[in-house]
Amino acid sequence: MADLGYTKHEHDVIVIGAGGAGLRAAIEASAQGASVGLVCKSLLGKAHTVMAEGGMAAAMANVDDRDSWKVHFADTMRGGQYLNNWRMAELHAQEAPERVRELEAWGAVFDRTKDGRILQRNFGGHRYPRLAHVGDRTGLEMIRTLQDHGIHQGINVYMEHTAIALLQDGTPGDPKARVVGCFGYDRELGRFRVFQAKAIVLATGGIGKAYKITSNSWEYTGDGHALAYNAGADLMDMEFVQFHPTGMVWPPSVRGILVTEGVRGEGGVLKNSEGKRFMFDDIPDNYKNQTAKDPEEGWRYCLGDKSASRPPELLTRDHVARCINREVKAGRGSPHGGVYLDIAWIQGRKTADGKTIDAEYIKKKLPSMYHQFHTLAGLDITKEPMEVGPTTHYVMGGVKVDGDTQMSTVPGLFAAGEVAAGLHGANRLGGNSLSDLIVFGMRAGDAAAKFAKENGAPRLDEAQIQNAARAALEPIERQERGVRENAYNIQYDLQDMMQTYAGIVRNEADLTTAKQKLEGLKARAAQVAVPGNREYNPGWHTALDLQNLLTVSEALVMSGLDRKESRGGHFREDFPAKDEANFGKHNTVIRRDPRGGGGGGAMQMERQPLKPLRDDLKQVVEENK
Ligand SMILES: Cc1cc2nc3c(=O)[nH]c(=O)nc-3n(C[C@H](O)[C@H](O)[C@H](O)COP(=O)(O)OP(=O)(O)OC[C@H]3O[C@@H](n4cnc5c(N)ncnc54)[C@H](O)[C@@H]3O)c2cc1C
Repeated sequence: MADLGYTKHEHDVIVIGAGGAGLRAAIEASAQGASVGLVCKSLLGKAHTVMAEGGMAAAMANVDDRDSWKVHFADTMRGGQYLNNWRMAELHAQEAPERVRELEAWGAVFDRTKDGRILQRNFGGHRYPRLAHVGDRTGLEMIRTLQDHGIHQGINVYMEHTAIALLQDGTPGDPKARVVGCFGYDRELGRFRVFQAKAIVLATGGIGKAYKITSNSWEYTGDGHALAYNAGADLMDMEFVQFHPTGMVWPPSVRGILVTEGVRGEGGVLKNSEGKRFMFDDIPDNYKNQTAKDPEEGWRYCLGDKSASRPPELLTRDHVARCINREVKAGRGSPHGGVYLDIAWIQGRKTADGKTIDAEYIKKKLPSMYHQFHTLAGLDITKEPMEVGPTTHYVMGGVKVDGDTQMSTVPGLFAAGEVAAGLHGANRLGGNSLSDLIVFGMRAGDAAAKFAKENGAPRLDEAQIQNAARAALEPIERQERGVRENAYNIQYDLQDMMQTYAGIVRNEADLTTAKQKLEGLKARAAQVAVPGNREYNPGWHTALDLQNLLTVSEALVMSGLDRKESRGGHFREDFPAKDEANFGKHNTVIRRDPRGGGGGGAMQMERQPLKPLRDDLKQVVEENK
């Protein structure tokens, strides 16, 4: 008889995930007087946020005084192709500067302008230099600062604990049943834990591990998306995945690792095998009046010349990624299936204040990139161009939330950061994630603490706990019964399948194939068996994560099949144009059929009309076209 026993922890608010969003939510909930438990799958400080490089977007106007929240709002809406939750885009643009200054007050050491203000750099889709940064290690500084601040707030941290089910006051999966805790296990010994809470904040990040080539780490298995979905919450815009244009392509062991957009912000240019700057060949109409006419103007922009427009390498990520894909397919790629990104060419040129750029200048601006290529690819970026190609980077889709409070469609369940949908619409602008984390992390923490105060003590249902425990142990027990389906093999096959049939370029036939293949993978996953026992067993962890990857992949494919147009991160070669009339006025919403009850309902999809944009915001968009 398996041991279904567990240790129970009680808090007002449980935050699942300790990246930027989770830490900021925990700090805020704690500041509101709530007792807070912070549960995270890896070690504290190892969340994905630590990998962020280029910076966080906030219209502080430190480098260009023409910037304002209105321009940032308009840029975010244009980048998201107007499917954004405009209330979130408004709050984000208005509140990001204050949140960045707060980080500074808590000890974050940003790069500086000559007169001592926070330095801001150029990034794709942002009209003015807007990214507050610390070299190309901004995420590290953010997480260090939030952790330092957080531990002094008395937050209880449960490191290396994975949440695998939400507990509800009512039938599991019923969207009306309030969330009252979560069920999980510690990754070392595999012992079960129950976290009882009056409110839960999901801050679990993205889904990148659904793909073979990705900049994301092992943690990104869509856990929060699946936890919410299984509890009956709505997921929104799941078809929109961001393929970052520049990941490493060589050697194979580092394929997918990110090459920050900061390289292009500092003047890096993209060239094909013929030496041509191909990005000048394809500039979308809605960006024509904001894009440099020639390379010389693009370079002046990178030096801070306010009369110049940005180079086409700094167009939005969806577009740049597709242009790279096109060059490679046309046979104009680099030897290992990418294109060239050259920052070495800026050597010998003059900076705005007349200094001659040398190798040291590049190393100082891009220390991690220098180190990354030097150690992993044996290449000196101050001398040679890098080989780069698209890599799965970010998911715009996620848990549907209220713009002001971040509460999902299930009472007591909140979501912030990459796991939440809305702010970025069909495509996220670089730098808008880190600011998203601090703006909406704070809002979610605040609203969750209020919810906890206003709602009575939760009631846990022992049967739900026992069911979750039994389900978690099934893969180990199957092995004992002689079943042999391997979790790693299924995960690899899923990643390969998603890369091939639901990747950067999609069409009806491929997505239909993906849908069919998912059924086969789901059947195999239902038979997954894990050797060993609960202690120190990564195979078991993979088997449990696999279910989440399958759920998010199914949601992505279902939404992608329905959106028969191309917009933002979703490109359909069979419908290459945007179709405003049929697809420009709704979000795609995925939920589990509540009639299935107890975990059994099938996945359903609905087109949900966009809320009309407020008149004053309409005007802001018009003024900034
Ligand atoms: C290489 C790289 C560079 C980037 N650069 C930038 C940049 O310059 N600017 C920018 O704006 N964005 C950047 N991004 C994107 C940005 O870093 C992420 O979108 C952001 O950090 C996500 O933060 P988060 O708080 O939502 O999640 P994360 O930081 O990923 O944290 C997720 C947390 O959830 C935990 N977790 C997950 N599942 C579970 C579970 N089941 N149980 C318990 N805990 C769980 C994890 O352990 C982790 O603590 C970059 C991304 C990458 C990969």
